[in-house]
Amino acid sequence: MKFRLFATLILTLACGQLIYSQSSFQPRKWSIVIHGGAGGAPKSMTPERKALYEKHLLEALEIGRKMLSEGKSSLDVVQKVVNYMEDCPLFNAGKGAVMNIDGIHELDAAIMDGSNLKAGAIAGVRDVRNPVNAARLVMDSTAHVLLIGEGASAFAKEMKLEIVDNSYFSTQARTNQLNSIKKGEETKDPRGTVGCVALDINGNLSAATSTGGMSGKKWGRVGDVPVIGAGTYANNATAAISCTGHGEYWIRRVVAFDISALMEYRGYSLEKATNSVLFDKIDPMGGSGGGIIAVDHDGNITMAFNTGLMHRAWAKSTGEYGVGVLKGEEKVFRSNNEK
Ligand code: ASP
Repeated sequence: MKFRLFATLILTLACGQLIYSQSSFQPRKWSIVIHGGAGGAPKSMTPERKALYEKHLLEALEIGRKMLSEGKSSLDVVQKVVNYMEDCPLFNAGKGAVMNIDGIHELDAAIMDGSNLKAGAIAGVRDVRNPVNAARLVMDSTAHVLLIGEGASAFAKEMKLEIVDNSYFSTQARTNQLNSIKKGEETKDPRGTVGCVALDINGNLSAATSTGGMSGKKWGRVGDVPVIGAGTYANNATAAISCTGHGEYWIRRVVAFDISALMEYRGYSLEKATNSVLFDKIDPMGGSGGGIIAVDHDGNITMAFNTGLMHRAWAKSTGEYGVGVLKGEEKVFRSNNEK
């Protein structure tokens, strides 16, 4: 009798717990931010050019918004969004990337999973159509973090990634730009980069960045993008961060990790940590001309830059999303599909 009473009690408690946990289950919030670089003179941004950038930024954002609202992982999201931007000739990554001083495209990319601090990166690659896909495979399928040059290409071939001729990445705009650099003329847009950071409904943070680097760079030069902690970083305990700017400064300041560390060790908010690194550390060194996008574990976002423009877009599970190019100018929208 006593046993029966006891068993009934346990069963009742278990059912109650089940009902409670089902009724209290709430879909978690998600957030995403993308950037398409902070290079370029604001004066060159005609309304038509700006509209074109905004259109492509919103298309890239839409890929991420859809995936996150369907519950996809932030890692898959940042990779797919960066793929879109690598395929778009407007941005300095993949097709449309800048060239080194010899007229060759050498591409860098990285991806990081904040849930386990795993990371993958490739540098100086000349023939992988979507460099961030190679970075993801370095992370998922090797015991390494960073592969470079011919080794990275051989690995990409082995993994059956799409291999292209180096000329695939070329555009007339980048050829003109390199010619101006060679003639010693001032160029409007010597750099750029693309990046995406996201928080998914399971609370996982990820970051991905991809770039052609600096136009007219020395062959073999590697920027901050594939240096984990410099241009790219993600940690579920703090934030996911992707940077753009003069990579040498970003490497020396270990920018992305510094933001995470300020949050972790000093308890800074995402915004305070980002602004402090960009404006109090990078600026005084003379590393002007860059920007940082980041999202924290609560879904807060930041888009800081010390230039006249940064191509950027963002969205949250609240339904709000926005796009901007010039400083101080941003279009904000509201979608009815999200909660
Ligand atoms: N950070 C990139 C590099 O130095 C360029 C950029 O983002 O503008 O390679």
